[in-house]
Amino acid sequence: MNEEVTLPAVLGEEILAHCRAVRPEEGCGLVAADASGRPVAVIPIANALHSPVRYQMDTREQFDAMKRIRREGWSLWGIFHSHPHSEPSPSPTDIRLAYYPECYYLIVGLSTDPPKLRCFTMVDGRVSEAALTLVP
Ligand SMILES: [Zn+2]
Repeated sequence: MNEEVTLPAVLGEEILAHCRAVRPEEGCGLVAADASGRPVAVIPIANALHSPVRYQMDTREQFDAMKRIRREGWSLWGIFHSHPHSEPSPSPTDIRLAYYPECYYLIVGLSTDPPKLRCFTMVDGRVSEAALTLVP
């Protein structure tokens, strides 16, 4: 772990709530940061594949979310998705489809109680875990 990342706990709860709501399908969405780079909003996006083992963000919803992020003066900070039945480690597919080297990838593991939330960067197939802290 070479990087420390903080996320407001309320945003972590929103991510978790969405992923629980769509279980057994994988849940996914975006996290936006304000101009100072602090995460400020979670935007859930429908999983177009409706699959328990894969996700692909609904194109229309993703487009609208990116428009909203620009309109608010935010930036794309992170991308989250859930693993309903497995550990929250990036799958080979997650790594292959990680197109945003500047973003954090948050993965929720729902197979444990309490669920786990982990944070990674994925750049050109190289995965690094960041030390994620939820802050008040
Ligand atoms: Zn995954």
